[in-house]
Amino acid sequence: KAKNSIEKEIEFFSKHMEKEVVMNVQMEDALKKALKNQEFFLMFQPQYKTDGKHLRGFEVLLRWHSSELGTVSPAKFIPEAEKTGLIKEIGEWVIRKAIKRFNDLEKYFDKKLVLSINISVVQLTEPGFLEQVKDIIDSEGLNGFRLEFEITESHFISDQEHVIDVLYKLKDLGINIALDDFGTGYASLSHLQHIPLDILKIDKSFIDLIANNSNKEKMMVVPLIEMSHQWGIEVVAEGVETIDQLHYLEDHNCDYLQGFLFNKPLTEAQIIESF
Ligand code: C2E
Ligand code: MG
Ligand code: MG
Ligand code: MG
Repeated sequence: KAKNSIEKEIEFFSKHMEKEVVMNVQMEDALKKALKNQEFFLMFQPQYKTDGKHLRGFEVLLRWHSSELGTVSPAKFIPEAEKTGLIKEIGEWVIRKAIKRFNDLEKYFDKKLVLSINISVVQLTEPGFLEQVKDIIDSEGLNGFRLEFEITESHFISDQEHVIDVLYKLKDLGINIALDDFGTGYASLSHLQHIPLDILKIDKSFIDLIANNSNKEKMMVVPLIEMSHQWGIEVVAEGVETIDQLHYLEDHNCDYLQGFLFNKPLTEAQIIESF
């Protein structure tokens, strides 16, 4: 007898869910080995002033070539690392490694740049995180660059007060705070007044709208930029891919740009070659 559609659907979902569970167990195992086996490395994506000429600094992006799973994107493995708590160790590795690398790279530039590191809220709320950061800075030093931490917007809803307290303490250490992926989560503009922010990163999904012909959609970014400026916050546009986007953002006083129009994430060798 032919299966009815509900039975077929159930079969479909259970197969896929099984696969998903197996994948997660494999990934957890593989992630545990990744640090030990040195399967992680870092890439750096340049950020520019909106004139497109002056370099502001670099965002650090983590990469993983797993011996078992091949190349896995951070969008996939970071959430897994967060769920399993492995993000604590991985995140610490990223901060230390990025600072070490930049202490070497800094000599290739003639001005003080910003090194921007993505930090998971799981790390941020971990007891001992501030001490960890302090220890890394004390032991590695910061040779002529400024550290910035990017925190994803959607993470702010949970335990806001504690998160904000940690952010103030990071600022006391001289670290810039950037709100990442703005527009994708729940933080509204009015939230921004309560967070000690230096930088707002407007998510690529908003920047993509600029390519649309519809004027209304294009205009979405304008109040974000204006409101940020009124609060003394500078704005980075993420995922800039076209000249039209560049010109629109220039016309509306966006401060900094990052995206494939300028560079994809680069290796250290590529940085030394290109700058
Ligand atoms: P994110 O912090 O918003 O980083 C920007 C992402 O957009 C990066 O993807 C970057 O390669 C990509 N991108 C930049 N410009 C363009 C563009 O013009 N077009 C397109 N299509 N994409 C562009 P990536 O490296 O795959 O990272 C994905 C996410 O994974 C990051 O989003 C961040 O949330 C997370 N992530 C990456 N590295 C780390 C890390 O060290 N720690 C933590 N906690 N999260 C990280
Ligand atoms: Mg980021
Ligand atoms: Mg982002
Ligand atoms: Mg983003």
